[in-house]
Amino acid sequence: MGIQTTRIYRFDASGCNGCDIEVLEILALVSVAELGIEIVETPNDANVLLVTGGSNLKSKRELESAYAAIQEPRLVIAVGSCAATMGIFKGGYAMAGPIDAIIPVDLYIMGCPPRPQVILGALADALQLKVEGMETLLRTPQGFRGDPHVDQGKCIGCGACANVCPADAIEIVESGTERLVRFMRKDCIFCASCQEVCPTEAVELHVGDKAWVRKKDASTSEARLQRRTCLVCGTPFLPDAQMNWAMSRVEEKLEMGTGDRSKLQRSLSICMQCRRKSIGEVREAKTILASLASRASGRGARC
Ligand code: SF4
Ligand code: SF4
Repeated sequence: MGIQTTRIYRFDASGCNGCDIEVLEILALVSVAELGIEIVETPNDANVLLVTGGSNLKSKRELESAYAAIQEPRLVIAVGSCAATMGIFKGGYAMAGPIDAIIPVDLYIMGCPPRPQVILGALADALQLKVEGMETLLRTPQGFRGDPHVDQGKCIGCGACANVCPADAIEIVESGTERLVRFMRKDCIFCASCQEVCPTEAVELHVGDKAWVRKKDASTSEARLQRRTCLVCGTPFLPDAQMNWAMSRVEEKLEMGTGDRSKLQRSLSICMQCRRKSIGEVREAKTILASLASRASGRGARC
């Protein structure tokens, strides 16, 4: 980024102070002098603005003034989920927006909060800092789970991950004949709930990825699933992979003849709206399943 002497001005736009604590924790890892940077008291003396928290109505004007006051070439680093997206404060009545809605941002450091090692790594990367022993310092901290990646080949598009994600970092988008399962890293707090709940082990948190990005929406991981077309009305509804997975689960547990299999397949190819209208078909499928299950339980199998 071409900054010669690095003079950082810290700005707390509003947040829970978790990120501020992690920023201060950097000093436990390495001394500021060793880093070759200076922490300055006023924006006029700075060329780097390190912002934590999303901006609220009160801090908005101060943030604009701080940005106008820092020296060129300016570098703005947004630290943490709130700075990038407003995080848990999204939708709050007093919020003015994420930092990039107020001033241009050059680098986003993800996490709620990001670990000090991650912040230090991002600073070293963005400011081209050279610190002895940096590799040891930046070793992934114990317990850090990494970024979620979805395996297109394993994902069935069931949406369980989106249901449990506490940060709304997973979108399920129906687009024509496709369903998209989209992981938005900018919102992710690396909690691993998606990995835990996924029935097909399609999500894995990868330790070792950089948790900082220059473009907020750049590092999205996604899976695209073909949706099944309703036999009755022709509308695409649930993903084929999800229905096939459901059918294979039934087949794993219950022995069935060709006739029952094709009736169940047909039932799984009718959308919710048409199911409500042709309830008879659904009842028939339920009856088939109930009778297969009772036969299997007679043999000791469990559904
Ligand atoms: S299969 Fe896993 S990754 Fe895919 S939508 Fe379901 S829970 Fe999410
Ligand atoms: S790790 Fe998964 S569940 Fe947790 S915030 Fe990130 S995308 Fe959501």
